[in-house]
Amino acid sequence: MAGSTDTSGGARRPDALHSEPLRRDFADRDELVAYCRDVFPAAAEVDDHVSATRGGPCAAEARLAEVDPPRYGRTRNALDGAVTGLSPYLRHGVVGLAETRDLVIETAGSPRAAYKLLQELAWRDYYRRVLDDIGDDVWDDLEEWKTGYHADHYADELPEDFLRGETGNDFVDHTVHTLHETGYLHNQLRMKIAAYVVHWRRVKWQAGAAWMLSHLLDGDLASNNLSWQWVASTFGPKPYLFNEENLVKVTGGRLQGVGPGGQRPFAGSYDELNERLFERR
Ligand SMILES: Cc1cc2nc3c(=O)[nH]c(=O)nc-3n(C[C@H](O)[C@H](O)[C@H](O)COP(=O)(O)OP(=O)(O)OC[C@H]3O[C@@H](n4cnc5c(N)ncnc54)[C@H](O)[C@@H]3O)c2cc1C
Repeated sequence: MAGSTDTSGGARRPDALHSEPLRRDFADRDELVAYCRDVFPAAAEVDDHVSATRGGPCAAEARLAEVDPPRYGRTRNALDGAVTGLSPYLRHGVVGLAETRDLVIETAGSPRAAYKLLQELAWRDYYRRVLDDIGDDVWDDLEEWKTGYHADHYADELPEDFLRGETGNDFVDHTVHTLHETGYLHNQLRMKIAAYVVHWRRVKWQAGAAWMLSHLLDGDLASNNLSWQWVASTFGPKPYLFNEENLVKVTGGRLQGVGPGGQRPFAGSYDELNERLFERR
């Protein structure tokens, strides 16, 4: 049978993939998961978690039916805000961007009432267009760093404690584990973990971008890399920073950013953090 499970018991060779169409029918989700583990052993080695997020048009329709544009506009920055969770479906073409835009306007009653959500959908479109223009250069610094440092001041690799989610900092470890377990992060956590990697650990944004891409269900070269570059300051006017007060606010107090021995790396005003983290020229 085309795409049937390898009965030899060994891992399926990747080249076998090219000669057989993938299976589409499964008795249940467990069978689908087992099949994916078998056919994509390299992916399972990177991350063997199975996200609770369901694929397919029914799941996407259910998400679309719950979109509440005015509430989105008011609450989207909070971790428990009314974000849509549409990104995996948009990323994989289960729903289209134009279709989503039209539905959002219809639900809200007018473009004005849906303004904030339309603006975010537009960012996705914009990043795709930039990628169309620059191609593989999306992996290069698009502008000078505005941190006072040069690219060679930043490490090439992510530190092991970070990769394992064992830094001892509640915010960092929670974010790494959430990404591993769900394949999803709220936008605020994406921005903040990127800032932590680049500005607090002083690691090249490219290492962080590649790591995040390999775990996200919505992993998208355009939105991901250009957002990392924006945080780093190589695609924007200044580095993105956050402080402890802001972290506590957007997480509703669930995450404090406190590390081993009570260290508080994010504590302080933005002026103090700028002074502490960046080189003055
Ligand atoms: C460091 C970093 C990496 C990111 N990597 C990705 C990625 O790989 N894939 C991806 O789709 N998005 C990425 N984003 C953008 C954004 O975080 C996600 O699109 C959003 O969090 C997905 O959740 P949602 O569908 O609930 O978003 P909602 O807030 O409900 O937004 C609805 C849709 O609008 C679009 N959107 C929202 N915010 C943004 C944004 N800031 N930039 C571009 N499009 C946006 C997405 O298509 C999203 O599904 C990244 C952002 C940062 C800061």
